[in-house]
Amino acid sequence: MSLSLDIKFFLLFLLIIQVTPLNTRTFLDDVGCEIVQYPPEILGPVPHLKECLSTINSLVVYPGDPNYYESIKTFNCRYSYFPVVIIYVTNILDIQLSIYCANTLKIPVTARSGGHSFEEYGNGGRNGVMVIDVKEFNQVSIDKETNTAIIGAGNRLIHIYRKLNQAGFLFPAGTCLLVGIGGYATGGGYGFVARKYGMSSDNVISAEMVTANGSFLSSINSTHHSDLFFALRGAGNAGYGIITSFTFKIYPIPPIVTAINISYVSEQVDLLFMSIAKVAKNLSDKLTPDIRILSENDRLYIGSFYGVFLGSAEEAKSAVNELIELTEPAFTKFVELSWEEAVEKSPRFERQPFKSTSYVIAPPGLSREGLKFLRNFINNIECTTKALFYLMGGAINKFSVNSSAFMHRDSLYMLQMAMHLEGHNKEVQDKCFEKHLQFSQEFRAKYAIYFSYQNYIDRNLQNWETRYYGHHFPRLVETKRKYDPNNLFNWAQSIPIKFS
Ligand SMILES: Cc1cc2nc3c(=O)[nH]c(=O)nc-3n(C[C@H](O)[C@H](O)[C@H](O)COP(=O)(O)OP(=O)(O)OC[C@H]3O[C@@H](n4cnc5c(N)ncnc54)[C@H](O)[C@@H]3O)c2cc1C
Repeated sequence: MSLSLDIKFFLLFLLIIQVTPLNTRTFLDDVGCEIVQYPPEILGPVPHLKECLSTINSLVVYPGDPNYYESIKTFNCRYSYFPVVIIYVTNILDIQLSIYCANTLKIPVTARSGGHSFEEYGNGGRNGVMVIDVKEFNQVSIDKETNTAIIGAGNRLIHIYRKLNQAGFLFPAGTCLLVGIGGYATGGGYGFVARKYGMSSDNVISAEMVTANGSFLSSINSTHHSDLFFALRGAGNAGYGIITSFTFKIYPIPPIVTAINISYVSEQVDLLFMSIAKVAKNLSDKLTPDIRILSENDRLYIGSFYGVFLGSAEEAKSAVNELIELTEPAFTKFVELSWEEAVEKSPRFERQPFKSTSYVIAPPGLSREGLKFLRNFINNIECTTKALFYLMGGAINKFSVNSSAFMHRDSLYMLQMAMHLEGHNKEVQDKCFEKHLQFSQEFRAKYAIYFSYQNYIDRNLQNWETRYYGHHFPRLVETKRKYDPNNLFNWAQSIPIKFS
């Protein structure tokens, strides 16, 4: 009997599947991110979990379920990590029950909001954890009398901006609209209006959270659980519990804003940075710009100064007049628009494999030598890399270093070196990655100060504890021990319960 061609192919396919070890089988998802099939070892606790979680109402996804791979897609797809269960919690009781099961079965727990962690900590950053996804906690309740809003911890920034906008308000948050507020505002949160109103965490008035013993703390603020309130604003995404909502200060939207784009050709980039060092101190806090340096390959404009000015084009021009006179840029554009348009115009980034590192640069800024070193790296690395300098100052410095766990005040820039790995094979990716780490070590030692920004989390960073949290680290460990003594919420860079 002869088999049809289709059946032969099918049998061949089955044979290939059988001889390929489970944990090395890979496939590409819709944006070309490689996914390795979950390793069978993670399945051990599944039957016990199914029994323990049988009474909860929320959606529970296990390895092997049809929507499992969809449920573990995070923004950075450099690695794949495989949770043992993902629970899309819809109410506090289900969070408490999930935590009870995790404690009973000794399974580590991680919270997930927007899935934009640089190191995929939203999936635990390793295999076999319980992910409590809070995306259903997406309320935005606005109080126009007190200029405050209660914001569910599972909201993406775009949803919050839109809701607030409808009521005539804004809040200090980032330019990447799909980031989750749960992981963003808890690690500082730099964004559109940081120099006007401070970091996002500076604008949190209170929070609600479920702790490791299942207690629901409904008012964490400057008078109740003030130790936790301190920790959550800067280290709240580092393993204290499952935050369910925040109360934020919100601000009236200005009638008009102006998008500024000032660009420079390669020869002008040094002058741009030397000039910013001069003008930054007196720059209006209505402007929170980032300054970018790109690779010289195939581009005309290598340096750019971007920002949204809270006011008219005329005011915006006058705010950057000194910089323009000093630098004579190759290109300038000032576009008046509504706040809503400015927000909506922000680029949406696709899920992708990448590696970022971060640095804090003190006034007066990078030396010429430092700039040369950085540009040399960007121009010669095979994987597209850009340097993003976020200008600090203004309201960020009005909050004291000891007001919260976010301690990077009085610096000139936070710098992100963002390396895109997509489109390269594994060998090239690994080479780029290694070169990035070498660059990082030397650049950090020679040209940056000691600290680093915790929202741009980097698992290769040595001494991350004090680089992210400085002298607050012992206090954060003490608070962690108080609220999570058995270290239920733990991963590579969560706050530990003791000093190692
Ligand atoms: C494309 C892109 C653009 C970005 N732009 C900016 C920017 O402009 N400014 C800036 O400051 N940062 C920016 N970031 C960094 C971003 O703020 C952090 O990666 C942040 O942690 C992502 O939060 P998330 O909720 O989306 O991620 P997730 O992966 O869901 O979570 C990140 C971390 O926060 C914890 N967490 C999440 N929700 C909760 C919760 N409810 N309770 C307790 N812990 C929680 C998770 O356990 C995890 O450790 C950007 C990141 C990306 C990928």
